[in-house]
Amino acid sequence: MKAITVEPGRAASARLEEVAEPDAREGSVLVEAVAVGVCGTDVEIVDGNYGWAPPGASRLVLGHESLGRVIDPGTSGSLAPGDLVVGIVRRPDPVPCPSCAVGEWDMCRNGRYTERGIKQIHGFMSERWRVEPEYAIKIDRSLGLLGVLLEPTTVVTKAWEQVTAVGQRAFWEPCNVLVTGAGPIGLLAALLGTQRGLDVHVLDRMESGAKPALVRALGATYHAGAIADVGFAPDIIVECTGAGAVIADAIKHVASGGIVCLTGVGTGGRVGSLPIADVAADVVLRNNVVVGSVNANKRHWYKAGAALARADRGWLAGLVSRSEPPEQFARALQREPDDIKVVVRFADV
Ligand SMILES: [Zn+2]
Repeated sequence: MKAITVEPGRAASARLEEVAEPDAREGSVLVEAVAVGVCGTDVEIVDGNYGWAPPGASRLVLGHESLGRVIDPGTSGSLAPGDLVVGIVRRPDPVPCPSCAVGEWDMCRNGRYTERGIKQIHGFMSERWRVEPEYAIKIDRSLGLLGVLLEPTTVVTKAWEQVTAVGQRAFWEPCNVLVTGAGPIGLLAALLGTQRGLDVHVLDRMESGAKPALVRALGATYHAGAIADVGFAPDIIVECTGAGAVIADAIKHVASGGIVCLTGVGTGGRVGSLPIADVAADVVLRNNVVVGSVNANKRHWYKAGAALARADRGWLAGLVSRSEPPEQFARALQREPDDIKVVVRFADV
């Protein structure tokens, strides 16, 4: 079968090639790939800056945002041929640490977790893949191709759970949320904000195009510019850019008692000579919390599936902005101005 593979650590090593059928040890559920979403992590891996091949192998099958159709449900009691499924990305570390031991592998303490298509387990960019029944999430059939949005939705589902957990440390009645960054993560964070009944605002650099239109179609407010200019102090800021200046502004402008949830992973981003003790004093005096959130566990995958199933299909379809065949995977990894979520398309739904 055909697969898109890469030699981690070596730039420009990605290629579409013929590989063996998936190993039965990868799980009893056999799946035909429908689509795989691409994100910044895939670009980092293809650029040779991230990623690990499975033990004893030199190449890794790329792809972690899956959508497939069950060919053989294996030992799964609940799946049937033809069901649409998405594979969970992370597996607990082998020790396991206390978090992994209770199924919260997203909170892994020792970093020895593995991840499909990223860290030591093959990903989903192959014509067929296998998955353990307990790591296969069945999605609402009416979502069709939009099921490929499940993985990024799990990331924001966890982020919202973190925000809620932190908020409930005291009396808390949030009215509004500002999401910084209108990429797939930001837009899905905004969707979940509207599902929670909040007044949702989204800030990005783009002044026109699909992003402002998608935000307005949610019933949310779009802002192009700086956080200082949005005209209110947000109760919650979900930060999805990873840009130093935006993070600094988020911490500075969040409301008293407010929460800044960081989901973006950037580098550098030095912001002038930020007086860190003054920043901390403000955070202390205003009871602010800055919390980081990464990955997702099975509870978040389940809740994300329910959130997508509730969402407007037309709006979700607007997020999948481009689809490329496997032969054109390199084009899928190249960022174009109007891209939101680009997918590699293996088969029709
Ligand atoms: Zn762990």
